[in-house]
Amino acid sequence: LRIGVVGAGAMGSLFGGCLFEGGGADVTLIDVNPAHIDAIREHGLRIVDDRGDRRIHIPTVTPEAVKGTFDLVLVFTKTLHTRSALTGIAGAIGPETYLFSLQNGLENKETLLEFAAPDRVLIGVTTYPADIKGPGHVESHGEGVARFAAAASGEPPIASALIGAFEPSGLRLVYDPDVEAAIWEKVAFNAALNSVCAITRSTVGQVGADEGTRSLVFSIVGEVCRTAIASGIDVDTGHVEGMVEHALSHHTHHKPSMLQDLLAGRMTEIETINGAVARKAVAAGIETPVTSVVLKLVRHVQSPPQV
Ligand code: NAD
Repeated sequence: LRIGVVGAGAMGSLFGGCLFEGGGADVTLIDVNPAHIDAIREHGLRIVDDRGDRRIHIPTVTPEAVKGTFDLVLVFTKTLHTRSALTGIAGAIGPETYLFSLQNGLENKETLLEFAAPDRVLIGVTTYPADIKGPGHVESHGEGVARFAAAASGEPPIASALIGAFEPSGLRLVYDPDVEAAIWEKVAFNAALNSVCAITRSTVGQVGADEGTRSLVFSIVGEVCRTAIASGIDVDTGHVEGMVEHALSHHTHHKPSMLQDLLAGRMTEIETINGAVARKAVAAGIETPVTSVVLKLVRHVQSPPQV
């Protein structure tokens, strides 16, 4: 399989690097960050995970330098950059190319469908974590899994080849026809914890230690899960509440990505997480007052009006 990974930050570098290292696929990283690209070209991509610390000499290019078409493009930009990233490599997306998103948030399927036919679009979700520690250096610790399904119904023809390419990578990929439920459950988790930590500029533990912010988090989980169920998605609310409770008491020093983005002066993924939930809730006739207030506050703090 010829795979292009567009958006080779924390997750793209981890997935692309491990797939290349495993030898199951011909992988190219594609990014727009010159410092990161130069570091990988000069010293190799440094991956530090539970299997060790190594440097992987993987082809890494800017979008303009991509040659030929890919069998599969794995999209790992932040969701606000998906359209510009796919537009930037439009010449490498042929009629047979699969587009595959494991990004967080809702509506990734709809965005990919702007660039490929339904039988060429794969969507999913992953619990693997990753952090960029510096140019060309990614770290990831702990267990994870990636789940995927096709935008069209039924198992996609590429499924077994893709799972085969992942096998030697050390990353677990499974076909899950109910992946929409897993996507919504992760959105419920992120809509609640990411946004409240971002607005309050607090770690997960600080939010959990304050009864007020803790109750906001669980209100959002309830709103997102009710929206999912009203939209026909069979989410397990108790399971999400358990994941949130575990994070509040175990990941106390963690700063979720939305907080990290705000602190670094970057736009967050709020529109494809809380924003998308609020849109789906209107369509499903569900009230989401806390999710919507938090959405407005994050919009304000990430882009304060000039007065
Ligand atoms: P990141 O910011 O580390 O990486 C995104 C990369 O995209 C950057 O290197 C950036 O330079 C690149 N990019 C931006 N615009 C581009 C363009 N036009 N063309 C090519 N590249 C472009 O983000 P991340 O943490 O890897 O997250 C990626 C996605 O995965 C997000 O949707 C995130 O929510 C999701 N996710 C992240 C984690 C995690 O632990 N980091 C876990 C699960 C899911």
